[in-house]
Amino acid sequence: MTKEVNTPYGVSLWRSIRSLWSELKTQSRIKVANGNKTRFWKDNWHEVGIMELVFPDIFNLVLHQQYTIAEMWTSNGWSLNFRRHCNDWEVQRVADFLSKLDQFPGVQAGEDHLWWQGNSKGIFKVNAAYKIMNQSKQRIANWPWKQIWRIKVPHKVSIFVWLLAKEATLTVDNLMSRGMTLCSRCFLCKETAETVNHLFLHCPFTAHLWRIIINLKGIAWTMPGKIREALSSWEGICSHAKDRSRWRIVPACIWWTIWKERNSRCFESLENDVQKIKLNFILLLCFWCNQIYSNDTVSIIDVLDSL
Ligand SMILES: [Zn+2]
Repeated sequence: MTKEVNTPYGVSLWRSIRSLWSELKTQSRIKVANGNKTRFWKDNWHEVGIMELVFPDIFNLVLHQQYTIAEMWTSNGWSLNFRRHCNDWEVQRVADFLSKLDQFPGVQAGEDHLWWQGNSKGIFKVNAAYKIMNQSKQRIANWPWKQIWRIKVPHKVSIFVWLLAKEATLTVDNLMSRGMTLCSRCFLCKETAETVNHLFLHCPFTAHLWRIIINLKGIAWTMPGKIREALSSWEGICSHAKDRSRWRIVPACIWWTIWKERNSRCFESLENDVQKIKLNFILLLCFWCNQIYSNDTVSIIDVLDSL
């Protein structure tokens, strides 16, 4: 596990994932093999729990509190070195402790590894972890999770759309809310402050991309005020689409195109004109559609016609 981030720097997504480790740790145990990586007293390897916490009195009696299991296990069994002889009232407690250790079958070939207790195979699954952590089965009302996680786009794009829906993308408004002093100006239209909802919904440059699809289908669509509303609204008019799975990737495709262009202008001082941005969008849409239907290479005309 990586170190915990305590500074203002670092990727917020990873920081959030990292912060869940303490909760996930309680659902994991070390499966001991050669015992080289597992600390006898400190790690969670025994079914009774972490030895230091279950037997704190015995822990204070032993000489080698940092030893690994490999260092404590010998061909004759456990090698426990106490600081002093046990008092009469401590003998029963030591006996209880040793009885727990009797269940250990001994070290064996192979590396120690983490065993996830959320399923029978010991393999970590996000959905199992989610169910364990969300026992109350709470859900955010009207959260467009299908339009984020069920669309057929690269996973990093789904994560990006999820951040957008949470309005947590690192646009200037969010950077300023973290204390950075910046000049807030949209990198595309250069006319107004850069906010998540402006850049991805209301910026005139972004509107060009939306209009490609809207005009193609000849539909009337009013741009909602927020990303999550836009996702739900776009899903609501998917009855206009011939191929709904392609229709559903349009918002992600527009937003990914805009984000790439915005970052190109912000970090590399490279600007494409609006015609090139529109072309980039259409090419990306075709590329993703070809990825989805890998046995069915489609042309730009085919993709636009199928929407
Ligand atoms: Zn703008």
